[in-house]
Amino acid sequence: AEEVGGGDKEVVREYFNNNGFQRWKKIYGDTDDVNKVQLDIRLGHSKTVENVMKMLTEEGSLQGVTICDAGCGTGCLSIPLAKEGAVVSASDISASMVAEAQKQAQEELFKAKDDQSPALVMPKFEVKDLESLDGKYDTVVCLDVMIHYPQSKADGMIAHLASLAENRLILSFAPKTFYYDLLKRIGELFPGPSKATRAYLHAEADVEKALQKAGWKIRKRGLIGTQFYFAKLIEAVPA
Ligand code: SAM
Repeated sequence: AEEVGGGDKEVVREYFNNNGFQRWKKIYGDTDDVNKVQLDIRLGHSKTVENVMKMLTEEGSLQGVTICDAGCGTGCLSIPLAKEGAVVSASDISASMVAEAQKQAQEELFKAKDDQSPALVMPKFEVKDLESLDGKYDTVVCLDVMIHYPQSKADGMIAHLASLAENRLILSFAPKTFYYDLLKRIGELFPGPSKATRAYLHAEADVEKALQKAGWKIRKRGLIGTQFYFAKLIEAVPA
């Protein structure tokens, strides 16, 4: 059933250029036109971003550190990273997302010209699926993207992202646990019109196995949960 309509990737691209773009731009934004569930997801996701920023900055300054934000969405992570002085390469499969991220970065990074911030580098935004990313980065981050792909695809994505990273790889995914599985199934009984894509949960053990195969090991783990948002966050380093 995974490959219906040309495969997950085409379905995901189409979704995030259209309905998904409208839906997630709202969730990731700060306007009031969200319902309770969307507001809860906004809160959960912002905790994930906060956790990632903490994970990264507690290892030292990000000034000049090269970071690849794979599947950057509207730039929720790329922008705070750039504010810390990181040299960010941000990409997404959706051109709508990339255009929005670029717009928000321009607004946010250069509005307070008179503040004391260190030299900021505008993230380099690109429309690209993560499978075709190349280059080397100190750190690669990929947040809330794997939920759109089954584990069979996620294995290859993890291996590819690991091959781009020199020191750190940070991933978040929806954990396959009893409670979340149940919640997801309940959710599927009431399919909303804009929830057009399937959501895939991933067992932590499977993600860990894929990392091990690529020569990486998990150094830090975190779990973020609100009522409707669950994410397992992991930081991996070369084994
Ligand atoms: N990482 C961002 C964040 O946490 O704010 C966005 C998360 S959003 C739920 C998922 C994003 O992944 C969407 O912007 C979507 O277009 C992107 N995406 C999905 N599949 C992708 C792929 N194969 N390569 C690159 N981006 C992808």
